[in-house]
Amino acid sequence: MRRRPAGDEPTAEAARDASPIQYMKGVGPARARLLARLGVRTITDLLYRLPRRLEDRSHLRRIVDLLHGSVDTVRGTIARVEKFRPRRRHGLVLVKAAVTDGSGVLHAVWFNQPYIAQQLPLGAEVILHGRVQRQAGEIQMAAPEFEVLEAGEETLHVGRIVPVYGSTEGLSQRVLRTLVARALDEYGATAAEWLPETLRRRHGLPDLSDALRQAHFPDTLAAHEAARARLVYEELLLFQLLLLGRKAAREAETRAIRYGDAGDLVARFHAGLPYALTGAQRRVIAEILRDLESPAPMNRLLQGDVGSGKTVVAATALLRCVGGGAQGALMAPTEILAGQHYLTLRALLDPLGVGVVLLIGGLSRSARQETIERVRDGRADVVVGTHALIEEDVAFHRLGLVVVDEQHRFGVAQRAALRRKGERPDVLVMTATPIPRTLALTLYGDLDVSTLDELPPGRAPVRTYARPCSRRPQVYAFVREQVEAGRQAYVVCPLIEESDKLQAEAATELAGRLRDGPLRGLRVEVLHGRMKVEERDRTMHALRAGAIDALVATTVIEVGIDVPNATVMVIEDADRFGLSQLHQLRGRVGRGAHQSYCILIADPATEQGRARLQALVETSDGFRIAERDIELRGVGELIGLSPRAGDDREHAGLRQHGLGDLRVADLIRDQAWLHRARQDAAALLRVDPGLRRPEHRRLGRALAARFGAAPVENVEVG
Ligand code: ADP
Ligand code: MG
Repeated sequence: MRRRPAGDEPTAEAARDASPIQYMKGVGPARARLLARLGVRTITDLLYRLPRRLEDRSHLRRIVDLLHGSVDTVRGTIARVEKFRPRRRHGLVLVKAAVTDGSGVLHAVWFNQPYIAQQLPLGAEVILHGRVQRQAGEIQMAAPEFEVLEAGEETLHVGRIVPVYGSTEGLSQRVLRTLVARALDEYGATAAEWLPETLRRRHGLPDLSDALRQAHFPDTLAAHEAARARLVYEELLLFQLLLLGRKAAREAETRAIRYGDAGDLVARFHAGLPYALTGAQRRVIAEILRDLESPAPMNRLLQGDVGSGKTVVAATALLRCVGGGAQGALMAPTEILAGQHYLTLRALLDPLGVGVVLLIGGLSRSARQETIERVRDGRADVVVGTHALIEEDVAFHRLGLVVVDEQHRFGVAQRAALRRKGERPDVLVMTATPIPRTLALTLYGDLDVSTLDELPPGRAPVRTYARPCSRRPQVYAFVREQVEAGRQAYVVCPLIEESDKLQAEAATELAGRLRDGPLRGLRVEVLHGRMKVEERDRTMHALRAGAIDALVATTVIEVGIDVPNATVMVIEDADRFGLSQLHQLRGRVGRGAHQSYCILIADPATEQGRARLQALVETSDGFRIAERDIELRGVGELIGLSPRAGDDREHAGLRQHGLGDLRVADLIRDQAWLHRARQDAAALLRVDPGLRRPEHRRLGRALAARFGAAPVENVEVG
């Protein structure tokens, strides 16, 4: 590697690496737009976007040895090039080149790409890669990949181990490879090493410029693996430095609001509940109350399976905060869920003299104004709402505690915006998608983690069945039976990922079909995200009041809805949903005294699809299901931090973890590196919290460049 002299500031270079891809040679506005679709905006983005797979095209075969049907790579001299229009097929242009390697002649043929003739100079050396056809006495390759060799130049597309990238329409592999190679030549080759030598040695990792080249255009597969390991490690090291730095910063903060004495308010609250708290609830509540008393603001993740009773834990925290003279806020991802939390919290806290208000987008102007006033002057103790809470004109009198439900559905920016409504408030984020504790600690390294690992007693598990589509009549006959016995049912319509609108239409249509068919005579209603707030409220109210027999819904009912009399959950095309999502949906039933049922209707096309549904039939343990889900789909999908973001799934609906998506590392596959990185990061921050020592300075800058985070100054990390 061309090492820069010590002391040379890499700042200009860093700026250049992060320069917009559009200014690179060969990239204009149109290509820049296509690249942006892949998540590539800068040179660095391009260099850190590793191939989806590699293809070994390094083994050359003699033309005479080529077998019909095989895919092979050949090297030879261009002996003849013709361009012609075959008479029998009108409008077709053929380019045909004869290539010789001394052992035989290969005829390469391209269709309707007349410009290729110009790219094939007579007498030049060329490498071709493609499927071999032996026909009409000729050895042919149809539309092979090829590259004309230039003296002293390395090949990119053939004759080597070749990268294959995730791409998008309009961007060929050839273009991507060429751009990556250019970026490597112009930027990667002189990339300044910033990983401290000691760490690189400790783990036996290649240096940066080497790693970048070998990650894309490896000499051997082993060299590629080593290169990838280096890039994984550096990414996870920065990620852990970020999280541990944040944690240290937070622990060094002192709270702005100290809660006054709440007397026996919490004890009275618990004594008045119609049930006894579970052991897990008591433990977690103690952890939270301790946080609220401690000098640093709380920043805690509360994870617990569906139905584990998170709401009463949150209510306790809010009550302690209000009893101590401050306000609390609870933010939920949907209006339905916010509305339901509002009703629950009001029922729980109103008797104790705590004023709860609801703030959502659908309020009338005057109602909203009135609510905002109450929040501002402190008459409202607890505010429940959606992201309407973070709108600019919402100000709190004295915000002490922020609770965020279903945190993975919010971006970091939204959570931060709510936090900024107070002065260093306490934060409790809740999730019903629990992940194993060790993983949670590394992943949410800046949070403390509390886990509700116990369900309230006396709940019969939901009986779950997977049924083929052909059994639909029996399934709906069963729904009818349950309704006749006085119960209620949900029917979730098939998932259409991209569009609320299509989803709403699908629900309406399914409801119509059920009303006219298997559920004729029953009160069938619809619930979807496109309905007006009042309509939705009316429907939810009717459902709770027992005035609806079957509710046909989209996944808006995935979180939080709590109607104890509902005992059947039918999920149409269940194989389209993620495991954890199915588990959440199932959690909508089994909330009362009656035996409940979840019926997954699907004809899974693959063995894996069948196995997924079977996993759900066999277990009702959310932690086990989350683990299965992680194995099957990766952790990113689950918690919204998508390590494989980009490629095909980068649409607006993709949930964001917000800590800057990991672009190289895979948190399950690379767990060993994750642990090493965490240890190294902690050790680094222990000796040099601000990363100010000369040997750490570049590391500090890399951290800033990657995550926009400055290392923490003058803080000891425990
Ligand atoms: P989740 O963790 O899914 O948000 P909820 O807080 O909605 O769970 O609680 C689910 C149901 O369990 C609610 O009806 C709640 O009243 C009830 N519940 C909570 N804690 C207990 C308990 N300790 N014993 C019995 N029922 C409880
Ligand atoms: Mg809940």
